[in-house]
Amino acid sequence: RGTRTPDYLAGLNPEQRAAVEATEGPVLVLAGAGTGKTRVLTTRIAHILNLGLAFPSQILAVTFTNKAAREMKNRVGLLVGGAVEGMPWLGTFHSIGVKILRRHAELVGLKSNFTILDTDDQIRLIKQLIQAENLDDKRWPARTFANMMDGWKNKGLTPKDIPEGDARAFANGKGRELYAAYQARLMALNACDFGDLLMHPIALFRAHPDVLAEYHRRFKYILVDEYQDTNVAQYLWLRLLAQRPKQRDDASGKIGQSQALMSAKGSDAGVSYATVNLCCVGDDDQSIYGWRGAEVDNILRFDKDFPGATVIRLERNYRSTAHILGAASHLIAHNEDRLGKTLFTDAANPEDPKVEVNAGWDSEEEARAIGEAIEDLQRRENHNLNDMAILVRASFQMREFEDRFVTMGLNYRVIGGPRFYERMEVRDALAYFRCVCQPADDLAFDRIVNTPKRGLGDATIRLVHDYARARAVPLIAAAGEMAETEELKPKPRATLRRVVSDFRRWSELLATVKHTELAEQILEESGYTEMWQNDRSAEAPGRLENLKELVRSMEQYESLPSFLEHVALVMDTEQNAEMDAVSIMTLHSAKGLEFETVFLPGWEEGLFPHQRSLDEGGRSGLEEERRLAYVGLTRGKRRVKIWFVSNRRIHGLWQSTIPSRFLDELPEAHVEVMEANTSYGGYGGYGASRWDGASAFKEAAYTTPGWRRAQAANAGFTNTGKSGRGGDGWSGGRSREINYGEGGTARAGR
Ligand code: ATP
Ligand code: MG
Repeated sequence: RGTRTPDYLAGLNPEQRAAVEATEGPVLVLAGAGTGKTRVLTTRIAHILNLGLAFPSQILAVTFTNKAAREMKNRVGLLVGGAVEGMPWLGTFHSIGVKILRRHAELVGLKSNFTILDTDDQIRLIKQLIQAENLDDKRWPARTFANMMDGWKNKGLTPKDIPEGDARAFANGKGRELYAAYQARLMALNACDFGDLLMHPIALFRAHPDVLAEYHRRFKYILVDEYQDTNVAQYLWLRLLAQRPKQRDDASGKIGQSQALMSAKGSDAGVSYATVNLCCVGDDDQSIYGWRGAEVDNILRFDKDFPGATVIRLERNYRSTAHILGAASHLIAHNEDRLGKTLFTDAANPEDPKVEVNAGWDSEEEARAIGEAIEDLQRRENHNLNDMAILVRASFQMREFEDRFVTMGLNYRVIGGPRFYERMEVRDALAYFRCVCQPADDLAFDRIVNTPKRGLGDATIRLVHDYARARAVPLIAAAGEMAETEELKPKPRATLRRVVSDFRRWSELLATVKHTELAEQILEESGYTEMWQNDRSAEAPGRLENLKELVRSMEQYESLPSFLEHVALVMDTEQNAEMDAVSIMTLHSAKGLEFETVFLPGWEEGLFPHQRSLDEGGRSGLEEERRLAYVGLTRGKRRVKIWFVSNRRIHGLWQSTIPSRFLDELPEAHVEVMEANTSYGGYGGYGASRWDGASAFKEAAYTTPGWRRAQAANAGFTNTGKSGRGGDGWSGGRSREINYGEGGTARAGR
């Protein structure tokens, strides 16, 4: 080793440096936001390469997103000077899983060119299996089962492992059989689903100690970022790779056998293991994927799982101002379920702005004001748009910002998901509206003719296409004509007749019914809304919110056609990776990122904390929401601007909202409540310079005329933050299901 400290080490504090230099044995870095955990991992890779301890191909590094993997690769390159010659094993759990699986597919019964099913294929397949069992697939929806299986796979459970109660919960006790049948069917199709990308490698490693031993020899160093959000399957996978039997005798395979027996956490069958050079970093306060099966226990148990582990804590935050840090630390201290840590910064500066809390009238004003604040920072402070981000709790909130920014000509990009109008459910709904306004729109018709599933097979649809082409008529016209001929079997004929007559009826209503009402009616009568109401996947409630938001966004347009024209224009704006643009994303996808200025809109009860988590009851849902708030605040380097509004207008009806309890949990010393600067006025006493919590605001809200209108419109509903999520006449009796409380969509992964 050289005598001179390499540059990349010189910039680290002593604890960080210890974490980088402790290359041998298990190491856990457990530390708060912005303390340099990711930087430690990156530097550690550079250090290992620099000392020649391993080749790039001998390092396994797991990040939470593909984007994070790319960034890490670039940074390592910068640190070691020059491009890193491929880090083939730097990626997400899934991307690494698929790579391992391709190499040994035969050993688990697949061919190496196996396909990875998308959700649609998966659902279709499950449905066939359910029907083959002579079960009613309305009573036992395929999506529900897909979600159950996903939960099992997150826990690393194969069909024989699932608990009796779980197996009984679906289809009169056929859960286990169906799961097994599904796996068998996938094999026959040479396919696997997303969960299998981890399940198969786990099975492979257990059944083939020789293959596992090959990886043990290969991976000299293993590194994992965001360890607090690993689920059981990821944990098992990692442990198989990281722990190897002591005094391994490859030839006899004996110890390998016992390792194969190691079936679940904790059951080591009496073998002692040596741990490879494993370094995990994470923060229990940032565990935000519990709803998808992540187990924060994994990080809390690290030193038991990997005996002799070095645990390093980092306490100095390099990212945020003292105000931001003070606000975040104070907020997260309200959680009981945490280890608790100290965070400090040396960078306190009297000039630093406090965390701002802004009040707005409604979401439209919120979007307008944030747009203006962005332009202001850009003009006055010469801020790049790239340095600013808007972090929302629910994806439906993005729509208002996107529309506003398009109008303003402000560049934005949506990170971690499609833009609002590009979301699957929004596109589906738009396809319905397009067909109603423009029956010759074949693309739109094709998209939704069998969505929701109406039992129209590919063969039928092909016949309709042929017919249309032969006679040069639109698809919908062809469908209408064919519904009257003998060419089709009675069932598809009846279905087509119904679809065509529905569209005809809706088109006729265009002239007489208000377009927002018609839009709701179309989504209702077509069964499209219902399809998502019956869906038990974790995404379904968000999709329903997006549909509601879509209808709401039409209000400012005169008619359905003028709205569709607006959408076409919005969709045309470019998303260019190079351009200077404000980022819009969910709090969940903001993990690990940082921005000079962060806007946090929608801090209202029912939205944030989200109703779904509150309905879960108990502490855990709320605490996960609070961790999300902590993640949001700690993304900011210099400025954090929080917003809440007194009214969220949900498809035309005013819903009064209550400021988030999280606002009350911010320390006064680090927060500035901004003067309400609203064109609507009517704030009563609100906007006083002192932040005095929700009650003053609530009082003000009660005296505003808008509120009274809302109250009248909502007679019969309790106007708390709660009612904002559902009981508002959107779909009458069905609103119960939009209200998230049911069926554990949020819990499904646990
Ligand atoms: P999170 O919990 O949000 O993922 P983290 O602990 O991974 O945060 P990093 O993203 O690694 O933190 O670092 C936060 C910021 O602090 C980055 O901009 C990083 O470059 C900077 N930083 C970290 N350590 C140092 C240091 N020793 N000197 C200067 N800057 C540092
Ligand atoms: Mg990080």
